[in-house]
Amino acid sequence: MSERILLSSPHMGGTEQKYIKEAFETNWIAPLGENVNKFEEAIQSFTGANAACALSSGTAGLHLALDLLGIKAGDIVFCSSLTFIATANPILYLGAIPVFIDSEPDSWNMSPQALKEAFDAYDKKGQLPKAVMIVNLYGQSAKMDELMEICNSYNVPVVEDAAESLGSRYHGKMSGTFGKFGIFSFNGNKIITTSGGGMIISEDEVAIEQALKKATQARENVLHYEHKEIGYNYRLSNISAGIGRGQMEVLEERINQKRKIFDRYVEGLSSIEGINFMKELDNSLHNRWLSTITADAEQLKISARNIIDRLADYNIEARPVWKPMHLQPLFADADYFKHEQDVSKELYETGICLPSDTKMTEEQQQYVIQKIKLIVNH
Ligand SMILES: *Cc1c(COP(=O)(O)O)cnc(C)c1O
Repeated sequence: MSERILLSSPHMGGTEQKYIKEAFETNWIAPLGENVNKFEEAIQSFTGANAACALSSGTAGLHLALDLLGIKAGDIVFCSSLTFIATANPILYLGAIPVFIDSEPDSWNMSPQALKEAFDAYDKKGQLPKAVMIVNLYGQSAKMDELMEICNSYNVPVVEDAAESLGSRYHGKMSGTFGKFGIFSFNGNKIITTSGGGMIISEDEVAIEQALKKATQARENVLHYEHKEIGYNYRLSNISAGIGRGQMEVLEERINQKRKIFDRYVEGLSSIEGINFMKELDNSLHNRWLSTITADAEQLKISARNIIDRLADYNIEARPVWKPMHLQPLFADADYFKHEQDVSKELYETGICLPSDTKMTEEQQQYVIQKIKLIVNH
């Protein structure tokens, strides 16, 4: 096997170029056009959200969500610690102060117990957060019913980072539709891609109209260029949206493929003591964007990091689980609330994201499984 086996790469469905061609033929290259509207409609009808606004990235969506919630310099924002930096950076863009919340072991996502402790502590100080950012990691929804109950009891809005969990369901409801705002990413490695892009959704149509305004430089509705508030240049292009339209047609197929990839890993590796798989919560659907495991170094006699390095020797791309925000030098001063033991730190130290590319052949995946067995001496 000489070809590199990838973690997750763009996988076109076939109709993307048709929509791009239409954009060229009508000269709707930029800024807007039918593809943008149709892509938004597709996300709306797929998720059941009332309104959606297509953006240049998921990060832009997170930034807009916090801005629309009125987050200002000095405000407190609670945020999942175990995530990609893109979740937390927008807190800093606005000069706000992040407080990080640990994961719990079932979902790898925000611990309701740690969140409750953080609320108690900040309530006592008279410094309740202005928002809570909850991440749905690798496609698994967080325990949204418990988390929403806590946030609602303090009347604090939730921003749901569903960048990795498009198409996942929790208690019958689509991931991304639980908070005041939900955000998706269409970056190149996500379950579907527009080469780069994002979407913000909400039940609140007026809020999404405001998002659209802010994403287009917050121009007032008059002929001359009039501005009353801060704006950004965050809109998705009509060309990129054309890719998104095509990708929406194969989203369910991609989810099924991702889930099948996960099942094959379970079949091939679950007999190995010391390897454990990320769970799927009851009454939920995990899109299995990335197949993730933990590797117990004592039982396996080799660390997760060494397994990843050894796989690289075979031209197989595996990655550690995200390094938690509370361990990042950028956030050295930030406050942090642990679950009991430090779950996100443990997941970082033992976690491995395995190749989950939907273009990977079954034969290639068997090769990955065989090499893992060889590396852990099984
Ligand atoms: C990819 C990702 C983002 C950011 O999305 P971009 O479109 O790359 O800006 C945010 N949060 C999480 C958890 C992600 O995985």
